[in-house]
Amino acid sequence: MISPGTSLNALQKALRGGEISPLEVIKYYAGRMDELNPQLNALLSYDRETALSAAAKADISLPLGGLPIAIKDNICRKGITTSCASRMLENFCSPYNATAVEKLLAAGAIPFGRANMDEFAMGSSGENSAYGSTRNPADLQHVPGGSSSGSAAAVAAGLIPAALGSDTGGSVRQPASHCGVVGLKPTYGRISRYGLVAFASSLDQIGTLTHSVEDAALLLGILCGHDEKDSTSSQEPVPDFVSGLHDSISNMRIGLPREYTGGGNAKPVSSALEAATKALQDAGAEICEISLPHAEAAVASYYIIACAEASSNLARYDGIRYGHRSRLTHDPDALFSLSRAEGFGEEVKRRIILGTYVLSGGYYDAYYARAQKARALVAQDFAKAFSELGVQLILGPVAPTPAPNLHAVDMTPLQTYLADIYTVPANLAGLPAISVPTPQSGLPVGVQLLAPHFEEARLLRAAATLEQSWK
Ligand code: GLN
Repeated sequence: MISPGTSLNALQKALRGGEISPLEVIKYYAGRMDELNPQLNALLSYDRETALSAAAKADISLPLGGLPIAIKDNICRKGITTSCASRMLENFCSPYNATAVEKLLAAGAIPFGRANMDEFAMGSSGENSAYGSTRNPADLQHVPGGSSSGSAAAVAAGLIPAALGSDTGGSVRQPASHCGVVGLKPTYGRISRYGLVAFASSLDQIGTLTHSVEDAALLLGILCGHDEKDSTSSQEPVPDFVSGLHDSISNMRIGLPREYTGGGNAKPVSSALEAATKALQDAGAEICEISLPHAEAAVASYYIIACAEASSNLARYDGIRYGHRSRLTHDPDALFSLSRAEGFGEEVKRRIILGTYVLSGGYYDAYYARAQKARALVAQDFAKAFSELGVQLILGPVAPTPAPNLHAVDMTPLQTYLADIYTVPANLAGLPAISVPTPQSGLPVGVQLLAPHFEEARLLRAAATLEQSWK
């Protein structure tokens, strides 16, 4: 009755129709985890007994009653380790739930499984986890993307029907594209960041990984809303994202930036984009070429700002209050450096050093201040496209290539940073964006849609149209 690709929506119908019980649902996914997680390493842990006891009490009349959802390991769950896939937080047991988790619980969902990730959400391959790489279920020799590597792989392989991830510069959309699932990053501030371990606070946003656009809409409706514990969370009213999902997109104007279709894309990425263009046109949308003149500045601006904020956010891991503490010394200064040297992985250290450098006295204006100006220009490009050019959505690729090989040793950090070119702009501008799988032979490839602030309903409608067109 359940299969690896079963959506939340279908599960909910089966539960409510009495075709299956909440206990059977958990047993099914626990079985998949036992069978496949040893090779995928998508989940850092999963507690079958706790999930089963929650299932025994599940109220299936609630909006997500009895539905299991995996949680990226940088989103706090009370009484459970939240390690951010770092040695630094190996023994950190969260004393509280993130607001997103509270909302899932209140809606009757069953959090099940801590999803593996790049350490502190820094990376694009899943290989920066201190607990081993996650594999791509479509081909185990390839990475699943990152940093929400485990969330994407777990959904794609049917270890869980949906997962929460976080997206600071593409970490929900890019692994979704590489694994063949739907990845939604809402508008900055839509979902409370309370209890999401901070990486770069002005860019971080919780998002969802699901089998279908409808599931993304269902979860978004639950997760959104103002939270007094996060002053950056939005007061914007939360519409019903599911009800208008299948309305027509005829006459919608969708922009295709010429900066996104150049020679830099691999063949499967260009064909995915062509297929999406045609599908949207067939549904009555008008696709027009637009320009985002500052697109090229996005990656540099992102890496300066993200690293600057990370260096400040990660200063709290001092070996004294919580997190890893070195056993080699009792001297407070040495303790600080040794604990950090032992607790953080290579990529995290690289970013802290970079971030500290760009914020330091002599370099602040040359790097950080200029990056902020570039950020404003990137955001302005989008604002112009949505107003002066009159487009309602923007279509583009998610990443320039399908999932790279595991251990792509020939890639320097800079090369991997550059591959974030299509995802970081949405974070710099705070826009909602979604990655939708396309029908491909070979490795999965998604396409991306972006919308103006708080226009998730429109975004989801076009995404559902795409999804529907290749069924
Ligand atoms: N790949 C990007 C980075 O490494 C995005 C990370 C993210 O969205 N968390 O910074």
